[in-house]
Amino acid sequence: MKIYNTLSKQKEEFIPLIPGKVSMYVCGPTVYNYIHIGNARPMIVFDTVRRYMEYTGLDVNFVSNFTDVDDKIIKKAIEEQVDATVISERFIEECKKDMKSLNVREATYHPKATEEICGMIEMIEELIQKGHAYRAEDGTVYFRTRSFKEYGKLSHKNLDDLQGGNRSLLVSGENQKEDPLDFVLWKPKKDNEPYWEAPWCNGRPGWHIECSVMSKKYLGEEIDIHAGGEDLVFPHHENEIAQSETANGKPFAKYWMHNAFLNIENKKMSKSSGNFFTVREIAEKYNLQVLRFFMLSAHYRSQLNFSEELMAAAKNGLDRILNCVESLKFQIKHTDNLAVLEQEASLNEELKGFEAKFCAAMDDDFNTADAISVIFELVKFANTTLNGSVSNLFLQNILETIVKLSDVCGLIVNRTEEILDEEIESLIAERQAARKEKNFKRSDEIRDLLLEKGIVLEDTREGVKWKRA
Ligand SMILES: [Zn+2]
Repeated sequence: MKIYNTLSKQKEEFIPLIPGKVSMYVCGPTVYNYIHIGNARPMIVFDTVRRYMEYTGLDVNFVSNFTDVDDKIIKKAIEEQVDATVISERFIEECKKDMKSLNVREATYHPKATEEICGMIEMIEELIQKGHAYRAEDGTVYFRTRSFKEYGKLSHKNLDDLQGGNRSLLVSGENQKEDPLDFVLWKPKKDNEPYWEAPWCNGRPGWHIECSVMSKKYLGEEIDIHAGGEDLVFPHHENEIAQSETANGKPFAKYWMHNAFLNIENKKMSKSSGNFFTVREIAEKYNLQVLRFFMLSAHYRSQLNFSEELMAAAKNGLDRILNCVESLKFQIKHTDNLAVLEQEASLNEELKGFEAKFCAAMDDDFNTADAISVIFELVKFANTTLNGSVSNLFLQNILETIVKLSDVCGLIVNRTEEILDEEIESLIAERQAARKEKNFKRSDEIRDLLLEKGIVLEDTREGVKWKRA
């Protein structure tokens, strides 16, 4: 298995630190709103990496954080006049719902920044003791960037170029820094902001320190893979490396993986220019499996362009697989051809060939575009075979292979049985009764059960309305 490592700018053979085990950290979203489709790309990509690794027999410890303290969260909390945790908890729940619809599995751990403040204070203390950080007059703690000789090794930037060119590094409080390149580890509280007590001042952590700390706590000082969107390479991941490697005295992550940007109609996604979509908005129009299929139809390191046309094409592509699976299931039910035919030995060999080709694509830095092409070849093979006379067992073998390889991509092709209108109505009635008895657990359960089957409920003045998603 080869992985493109941003650190070496090369594809490298993947050799885990501990044979058979993988420790993987993926930077998660800041939870102040519904996730947008740009957030969904790393979620889908790295979930697929995890699934493929598990398929090959590796045991993956997958950690992804929620950044639940941040300027945007605080701003929203002030607008709504609620506690910041009300906002973050709400959008963590909403994010988890979207992940579920995208068939992105929950991480082994989903740590939240606000629950790991102690660890952050400890690491900052350690960095100060070792001379890599200092407290400025107002209580802000900065990392002394030049004290880490390898700074810039991930983004392949040179310290002096950074100093000369990058004005965006200048932020308020600049004049109290020893060097413009230094970045914040801890900042003093402002009015109305959530804060924690710390030796330097009451305040809150900078963003970069949280990932260094959570990665260490849940995965150890040295990990196999650290991943995220390419916009995180600099400064976020560069700063994480500086913090972790100076604090721990060890290399931080062995492989750094980054997915490329997602554009909308060939333009950068931005709220101000109106080309911005949340995952929820896409869900109004498409089953989110289509979005997942669309995202995987390009290699994760290529820029991906989102457009109505490409989404329609993705829907057609996914439907081709779904239809083939339905035909196979129908055929299996209606064929009583139990005798295994002589020519099936070679057909079975052919079938194994598809799986090998699929793996070869995935082993080459997770080339999902090619891997999906192999699934299409397999669908074609299945459709041809359906016309001939083969045994029930062979049909089952094809079906299993298609379902298995699709599952590695996180694509659900084995449709669950359609739920009937009467069943929906009776579940809604049961939910209403549960709510009357204040049994909210049961009422939520029913809502989730229906959601799983693609039924969305809406509580209105006139009563409960439902629609198929
Ligand atoms: Zn991070």
